[in-house]
Amino acid sequence: MTQAFVSSRVVTPEGVRPAAVIVEHGRIREVCAPGDAPGTSQLHDFGNLIILPGLVDSHVHINEPGRTEWEGFATATRAAAAGGYTTLVDMPLNCLPETTTVAALEAKRFAAAGQCCVDWAPWGGLTGQNHEHLAPLAAAGAAGFKCFLVDPGIDGLAMISKQELEAALPTLARIGFPLLVHAELAEHLYHGGDGGDWRQYATYLRSRPDESELAAIRMLIGLCRTYRFPLHIVHLSTALALDDLAWARSEGLPITVETCPHYLHFVAEEIPVGGTLFKCAPPIRSRENREALWQGLRDGVIDLIATDHSPCPPSMKRLDEGNFRLAWGGIASLSVAISVIWTEMRTRGLPIQDLARWMSAQPAKLAGMEGRKGAIAAGCDADLVVFDPDAEFTLTTEDLQYRHLVSPYLGERLHGRVQTSFLRGTAVFEARSFPNPPGGRELRREEKLAVRI
Ligand SMILES: [Zn+2]
Repeated sequence: MTQAFVSSRVVTPEGVRPAAVIVEHGRIREVCAPGDAPGTSQLHDFGNLIILPGLVDSHVHINEPGRTEWEGFATATRAAAAGGYTTLVDMPLNCLPETTTVAALEAKRFAAAGQCCVDWAPWGGLTGQNHEHLAPLAAAGAAGFKCFLVDPGIDGLAMISKQELEAALPTLARIGFPLLVHAELAEHLYHGGDGGDWRQYATYLRSRPDESELAAIRMLIGLCRTYRFPLHIVHLSTALALDDLAWARSEGLPITVETCPHYLHFVAEEIPVGGTLFKCAPPIRSRENREALWQGLRDGVIDLIATDHSPCPPSMKRLDEGNFRLAWGGIASLSVAISVIWTEMRTRGLPIQDLARWMSAQPAKLAGMEGRKGAIAAGCDADLVVFDPDAEFTLTTEDLQYRHLVSPYLGERLHGRVQTSFLRGTAVFEARSFPNPPGGRELRREEKLAVRI
């Protein structure tokens, strides 16, 4: 059956315009003027509401298998659908086993089967010990690789040294898939022992200074210049690195950069004593830094916004003690990121097509999904989000949808709300509920690999 999704504000790669999105067999056949929709098609007319391309989150910790009590495919993908995300790319750690071998990837596939409300794809993990697994992981469908220059703070995926990284980079350059790096250098971190008042956010902020990110990014730019591998900086927190990144990109180095909703919304000056819900790494920094990150997005030095959705059981946030040294670091935001970002964009007068670029087109490109995800254009999957930009609401636990209903965003007054999310033309979130059984699929990058190595 042919469907026509119509609105006066459809966000296409060419701009926002009145249009009908014509869908057949879950794919977009064409985008035409509303009056040109075939008379026989099933009409979904959304009036003046915005139709966005389904969002793509290239940085999510789903944690299953192994730590499903933290988060799992069923709950993460429901939260995604509620938040306008139709594709997630899963990080290789916090699950057990970590996705550092093809066998681990198969275990993840087995865990995901039949549970997902939206599509997903895996990142593989890079450690000092698994170089021989990189090409097999890429051939088996990993979209790229993630590594840590600092201890990730959890058993499993080990940090990698500069020497170990250099040993892997020729292989990575040959594969041609992106290497996503947690860019903080351990020698610049301060772990503090028992000194300092760890209920104060300022103590935590001092323990992970800007210099740690800046030094790591400078080192990575140097390696990228030598080995020419596609480098992606995950969760950029310090704006002090923007000049170096802009220079490196102007040289033509293959570098992309992401930041996250929490760095674009919260500011260190307002984090309360003992407010461990705000703990993440690298840390949320100053108001001035936040504004500079927004400028980095405007300037195109930062390519995209990803959530780094990283939940844990509430007890691990140590809310009773409020101790920033002992609490788990990570902020879950799949279901709220679109509203948080749109609220901030409204106050800065930024247009909705920027949101589609930062949260859909660019993350899709990073994960090798362009042409299939990330755009309302002929040939792409009919992943569509009906968004009311003028809705205003106070965030409650009912809006969260993921496993553990804790969030530093609760109680915030936000603008912009997802009304309906469609995955390949089928509603996966509608009227605050999930009308259909899970129909999400895994997306594999393997076809592209065959022509590259
Ligand atoms: Zn992460």
